[in-house]
Amino acid sequence: MDLKSLIRDVPDFPQEGILFRDMTPLLQNPKALDFVSQNLVRDVDLSQIDFFAGIESRGFILASHLAATHHKGFLPIRKAGKLPPPTKKISYALEYGTAEIELPLGSGRIMIVDDVLATGGTLQAAIDLSSSAGYKVEAVAVLVNLKFLNKMKFNNKEVFSLVQY
Ligand code: IMP
Repeated sequence: MDLKSLIRDVPDFPQEGILFRDMTPLLQNPKALDFVSQNLVRDVDLSQIDFFAGIESRGFILASHLAATHHKGFLPIRKAGKLPPPTKKISYALEYGTAEIELPLGSGRIMIVDDVLATGGTLQAAIDLSSSAGYKVEAVAVLVNLKFLNKMKFNNKEVFSLVQY
C-alpha cells in the first residue's frame, strides 16, 4: 500500500526551514489505518506484548488503534505534568532546550509506538523512561522514519518503520 501518498508535506511548519510530515490524510483513510495496524507489528511476537505505549499525542492514535486491533492494553507516555501520581519522569535534550515526558509507574511487556522518528531523542527517552518505571520494552516502531536525521537502533536493529525519507 502506498502510504507516502497519504502523508502530506507541509513546508516551514512549525518553523521556517522544517518540512513537516502530516499523517492526517492517512488517519482519515480506514484501509490505510488498518494496514498500519497490521503491518507495524509484522515482525513482533504479539504473545510477548501486554500494552501498546503511545507517545503523546499522535503516538496515542496509533497505539490505541493497535491495542484495539490486537486486543491489548494501552499505556500513555505523556508530556510531563498531565498524569496523576505515581509517575516517573525523564528530561531529554531537544535541538533548542529540553523536554520532559512522564508515564505511570507499572509493569508489563510493552511495544512503544510513535508517528515520526526525527532525531530519535523522544523515542530514546521513552525507552529509557519505560524501563526505569518498571516496564519491559519488547519492541518499538514508528510510522515514519526520517532516516537522514538519526541512526537510531533498538536491540541492534534499525527502528522498524513503514515509511522512510
Ligand atoms: P525527535 O525527538 O527529534 O525524534 O522528534 C520526534 C517527535 O517529534 C515525535 O514525537 C513526532 O511526533 C514529532 N515530529 C518530529 N518531526 C515531525 C514531523 O515531520 N511530523 C510530525 N511529527 C514530527
